[in-house]
Amino acid sequence: MQLDFLGDLQRTHTCGALRAADANKEVVLMGWVNRRRDLGNLIFIDIRDRSGIAQVVFNREVNAALHEKAAGLRSEYVIAVLGKVKQRDPSTFNKNIPTGEVEVVAREFRLLNESKVLPFLPGEPDAAQLPNEEVRLKYRYLDLRRTPMQANIELRHKIALAVRNHLSGQGFYEIETPFMTRSTPEGARDYLVPSRVYPGSFYALPQSPQLFKQILMISGFDRYFQIVRCFRDEDLRADRQPEFTQIDLEMTFPQQERVFEVVEGFLKAAFQAAGIDLPAPFPRMTYDEAIRLYGSDKPDLRLPAMVGVRECFTPAELEKLAIDPGLPVVAIRTPKVGELSRKERDDIRPLFGERPNAKLFEDFNRLEKGYSEAVTKIRALTKAAADDLIVLVAADGSVARHKSEGGVKPEVKQHDHAVYTAAGALRIALAQKYADRHKAFAGGRKDADSYHLLWVTDFPMFEWDEEGQRWAAAHHPFTSPHEPDMEKVLAHKDLGSVRALAYDIVMNGTELGSGSIRIHRQDVQRQIFYALGMTEEEAKSRFGFFLEALEYGTPPHGGIALGLDRIVMILAGAESLREVIPFPKTAKAVDMMVDAPTPVSETQLRDLGIKVKS
Ligand code: ASP
Repeated sequence: MQLDFLGDLQRTHTCGALRAADANKEVVLMGWVNRRRDLGNLIFIDIRDRSGIAQVVFNREVNAALHEKAAGLRSEYVIAVLGKVKQRDPSTFNKNIPTGEVEVVAREFRLLNESKVLPFLPGEPDAAQLPNEEVRLKYRYLDLRRTPMQANIELRHKIALAVRNHLSGQGFYEIETPFMTRSTPEGARDYLVPSRVYPGSFYALPQSPQLFKQILMISGFDRYFQIVRCFRDEDLRADRQPEFTQIDLEMTFPQQERVFEVVEGFLKAAFQAAGIDLPAPFPRMTYDEAIRLYGSDKPDLRLPAMVGVRECFTPAELEKLAIDPGLPVVAIRTPKVGELSRKERDDIRPLFGERPNAKLFEDFNRLEKGYSEAVTKIRALTKAAADDLIVLVAADGSVARHKSEGGVKPEVKQHDHAVYTAAGALRIALAQKYADRHKAFAGGRKDADSYHLLWVTDFPMFEWDEEGQRWAAAHHPFTSPHEPDMEKVLAHKDLGSVRALAYDIVMNGTELGSGSIRIHRQDVQRQIFYALGMTEEEAKSRFGFFLEALEYGTPPHGGIALGLDRIVMILAGAESLREVIPFPKTAKAVDMMVDAPTPVSETQLRDLGIKVKS
């Protein structure tokens, strides 16, 4: 078709704006042809833009030439329509769209652009017939035209804006930190950017603005935040993006409760942007409690906590059942599962997996025969209803035999931990398996009851890295130990029991973010580096600038970072992060649209002094 010029035409309304009150107005709409319906004398065009859809009519009897031109329109052509708004006959109201009581009777239209035949139709109602995700990502510009994607991106904007407004209202400044910085690995691998001017030297893309935000506190900015892109070259996983966005903040002189209040405030605002009134404050739970009650440092509060039931058995019973009497016996209750068949019982064990040190009692009914008193006590303690499923997890008696061979070993606490986490994993597996029975995971997206947030506090400071045979920072090396545990750090004594002023914000069993009160004393920071196995030389070469900065009047400070992508995904009710990131990469870290990464030219490599080994 012959294209028309736009000329000096200006749109008067967006496509979704027209209402009955606009009847008889002369309007100019511009947008995409969502759909064309040809009824002989009448042609109906649905014209679409970000705001919605309006129906445009072309009548052969009124204007035969215009009608003929409209017959040439195809999906996703771009047009400008001039015409008069007409109230529709009530029998033809379209209740599905807000503009459904009116239509525009076209007087003229201009064809501003054509479209090739599309790999898939982004317009309604065909959007249900989506091609596979690779095609959607290759033609992301078409995918983003779809109404659900437009809604997700709009929601993302609203959430980010709500967070910004809230934090700004609380006295936080949004301050940018560099994308081209120094390689200071925080756990993952860095993405590197070679320097042309200094051959052989590299910038790194930040895994987080951690040290910059701490330095902003040293500089006296008091309250910083940034909605910031972070880059981590981690192993590929289904729903992980190499670049992702964090709501990152830091504040001076805070008790950790102050940080919690700030986060509760902006999360409330973010949820409000999605129409959900989130109750705050969120519950707080120590790491030890979380492990004991949920067998996880990311407790999902939608289902009952686990219950320690060892005391329900007599010592003789424990021995007969070959349960280690020194370690926990944990009951898991999954509500409303109902009677299980023999076969369904058998399906539980594979969920537990191979755990040589732990024992599973999945058949509570059978246990009832020999241990009826214990079973009655356990039912009462767990508040089990008749149709609730109860299973028990305990430590295998044979594992603890070392006790009789030479007293209690120091790893006993680790064994406790192992029983709790084995039970915790099974608790979640059972919850997922019977989700359609207990329905605790259901709930609409507007339903505040579907979101269970909590703070997990007092994480251990160090984790023993079996492979490297050394202590590693459980959060990151800038996290402050509890003040009463400082002695142990300075003396390098009993590091496994040092608690950190570190905290996670968790929702429905997923971590939304984590943070900590930081170390503000140079002597403590040095000791932490040494405890982590860094020599003085290494510490100096990696973090020298920071250790130096700590010597110039560093105030106590702390902060946190939350994943924005995940928050938007949850609030959009989306299944994958890729549904809420405008231009995501695939699970294999490929951008399908621009086709990245790619090899670069010899000249570029030569300029950078880089030679690629094949
Ligand atoms: N920088 C940390 C992270 O990205 C968060 C924090 O401690 O503030 O996980």
